[in-house]
Amino acid sequence: MKTSKLLQKTLLGEILLFAIIAASTSIVSGLNLKKHMLEEFESKGKAIVNSIANSSVEVLFNRDASTLQSTIDQFLNIKGVGYIFVIDDRDEIIAHTFVPTIPPELLEHINEGHRKDTKNVIDEIHLLNRGEFIDISSPILAGVAGYVHVGMDKSAVAAHVKEATLQQLALVLAIFLLAVAIAYIRVNQISKPLNQLTEYAQRLKARDFSTSVKIQSKDEIGLLAQTLQSMSEELSHSFDNLEQAVSDATTELLVSNSYLRAILKNLADGLLVTDPQGRITQFNPALAEMFDLGKLDIRGQLCSEIFGRELAELATQTQQQSTEVLTAEIALARNRVGKAVSTAIEQELTMSGENDTEQMSSAILIRDITAEKEIDRMKTDFLSTVSHELRTPLTSVLGFTKLIKKKLEDTLFPNIDTGNKKQQRAVKQVSNNLNIIVAEGERLTTLINDVLDIAKMEAGRVDWKIEPIIIEELVNRSLAATSVLFQQKGLEPIIEIEPELPEIMGDKDRLIQVLVNLLSNAVKFTDEGSVTCRVGRNPESLTISVVDGGIGIAPEDCSQVFEKFKQVGDTLTDKPQGTGLGLPICKQIIEHHGGTIWVESTLGEGSTFSFSLPLSEIAEVPTINLDTLLTQLNHHVRPAALTDELQKKCILVVDDDAHIRELLRQELEAQGYQIREAKDGLEAIQQVKALQPDLIIMDVMMPQMSGFDAVAVLKNDPQTMEIPIVILSIMEDKERGYRLGVDRYLQKPINAEMLLQEISLLLSQGKSRRKVLLVDEDASAVRMLAQVLQERGYNVVEVLDSKELWVKAFSVQPDLIIANANLWQQSESVKTLRFEKGMENVLFILLADEHNDESDCS
Ligand code: ADP
Repeated sequence: MKTSKLLQKTLLGEILLFAIIAASTSIVSGLNLKKHMLEEFESKGKAIVNSIANSSVEVLFNRDASTLQSTIDQFLNIKGVGYIFVIDDRDEIIAHTFVPTIPPELLEHINEGHRKDTKNVIDEIHLLNRGEFIDISSPILAGVAGYVHVGMDKSAVAAHVKEATLQQLALVLAIFLLAVAIAYIRVNQISKPLNQLTEYAQRLKARDFSTSVKIQSKDEIGLLAQTLQSMSEELSHSFDNLEQAVSDATTELLVSNSYLRAILKNLADGLLVTDPQGRITQFNPALAEMFDLGKLDIRGQLCSEIFGRELAELATQTQQQSTEVLTAEIALARNRVGKAVSTAIEQELTMSGENDTEQMSSAILIRDITAEKEIDRMKTDFLSTVSHELRTPLTSVLGFTKLIKKKLEDTLFPNIDTGNKKQQRAVKQVSNNLNIIVAEGERLTTLINDVLDIAKMEAGRVDWKIEPIIIEELVNRSLAATSVLFQQKGLEPIIEIEPELPEIMGDKDRLIQVLVNLLSNAVKFTDEGSVTCRVGRNPESLTISVVDGGIGIAPEDCSQVFEKFKQVGDTLTDKPQGTGLGLPICKQIIEHHGGTIWVESTLGEGSTFSFSLPLSEIAEVPTINLDTLLTQLNHHVRPAALTDELQKKCILVVDDDAHIRELLRQELEAQGYQIREAKDGLEAIQQVKALQPDLIIMDVMMPQMSGFDAVAVLKNDPQTMEIPIVILSIMEDKERGYRLGVDRYLQKPINAEMLLQEISLLLSQGKSRRKVLLVDEDASAVRMLAQVLQERGYNVVEVLDSKELWVKAFSVQPDLIIANANLWQQSESVKTLRFEKGMENVLFILLADEHNDESDCS
């Protein structure tokens, strides 16, 4: 049986205690006993010697040794008496009890002796082989008759003390054993229930609440057991509740988890979740299907390794701009396209919320938009085709109507009898009707253009030309474009622009389109007073507002005006003309620039249409005042007046539409040009080779061979490359046209006036004055200027340094060299170029920086 610790400790304590008690009591009582016995021995000895001394006076005088001997012998039986001897006055031993002889040490002791002593003398004496003795002597007749010596044996004292001590120890041991037995019983009485309690507590610790503890005693242990028992019941109850709650929560969690898994599994969109380090933590089957991943488990892998840079960058950007929702178009497997929408997920690292370092994960939803893109493309293509099909006849209708009107006004109407009222009325009616046809035709053209514009914007097919813009220029040009409208309605334009506004980045033409639309709307819906164009600065954007005091818009309509084809208010009566597409187009343009557009209006009091444009970092593109440069160029290349020679020039009109060809023929022949026709690109090339016309007017979309292809052929043939080509098309691909080397790009419907002006300019430039050599070390500046000049019909050769300039100057033989003034000043070789042979007739234009004036040094 295992001895309980308590018992062990109690026993150990008891042993220690008893050992101390036994040792201390034995020592103390032994010493006491010894002391008492020695005293007793002394007094006993004294009594014996005194008695012998008293009784042996006579015997001594009689020298009766044998009587003396028998007297002392009887004292020898007394306990403790070791020896007795009697000496006479001459120190001779008369009787003694030593057997066989008196020890010599005693004799010496006697000789040193106590002869003169008249009292009892007590001495310590050590006798060899006999031990320690207390020698007590007593004089007989005051020493006259001799002395009696009794030796009390000290070893008897020691033996007695030893015996007594042993007895005492035996007693202590007996008590000790009794105490141990009692302790054992008592400790057992305590430790047994304690052990029971311990075992019970251990079972509770192991969450075994089924057993109970059987301690019935009324003492503290019993109380403890009872408390433990009720505590166990409480605990058991709490655990039951807790287990129930945990099991409920777990079931709930499992249900919602499987629900979530089902959602993820059946989600049509792909889902990808990455952790802050860009590792994939979650994905769904739709995503695997989108990227052709099969059954591959990609969790834990790097997003960039599985999906490439695009998606990984989107995830990183999302984490950095955690408040924003980012989108991107992503290439999927099998040539499909997806739209990824990414949001940041905040994740707390510690559950407790202390020390909460938040890290961002990204959740990316990807939708397969291949079909949408295809539909979008089809829609845009459809719209392009429809508008082409509509615009071509419309061009004829408008062109011919204008021709008829002109012919009527110039030739027929003057001949009509002014006196004939009926005829005059008919003339007026015909004029009015023709005006209506022209106005409606133009409205239809605007509508078609708007529809095409918005479709292209929505399909992301617009080429944006982002450049630095001076806001004043934007406002002035927009107001200039709408000045006629202001005059017609007698409204006053007011400009309020904050001073020193920074430049913004944007597509100038598109932003002018927005402002013109807002201004013309303001004029359209305002009958008197003024329209204000206000520009103000915010910390991160510019706000441009157009404020009118017109009819205003009802609050419920304000949000609708930016919807397509929405014309709000009373659309039946007194409605100004419009398409309802202007503001949606504005919205697209502004949003593309990262800005917003909004309206504040009160019905009957007026409206304020505003848009904001973000102030972004402006790339270091040198600003060249293009207007000044173009004026200078025009000054040098002024169109000649229509001379007889010019009028004999031959123009080839290339268009698959016979009506358009006819219209152009009539327009141009009226100006005195000779006209030849071709119905497609192929025929055009043949005709050009045969006729060598002075100018070609070319449509783009034609059967057999397109206009662009024909231009490419003609501009690459040395025989025909010098012939100016004017593209006249509904296609808006100026970039491509100028890249191919066309001289002008005009859009249908035909603006006869502009066409005639450009034709005369090109013909007057002839074949010689058109090549421009453009020199600047700044590639972006060269590119921008080249683009503008190409659009104006110049043949531009770009050069980036002075060395190349020398080579090109002689090989290209330009008519004009436009160079950066700094380069000119810094490079001697450029300066000397002017004086080289063959450069005499070359016009040099130097471009100085913004603040210096341009100088012409030719
Ligand atoms: P629309 O070519 O018809 O003018 P918009 O998209 O430019 O097309 O304008 C949509 C509608 O918004 C207009 O028809 C008109 O009802 C309303 N609207 C636009 N500007 C103003 C304004 N300045 N004042 C009152 N109503 C306006």
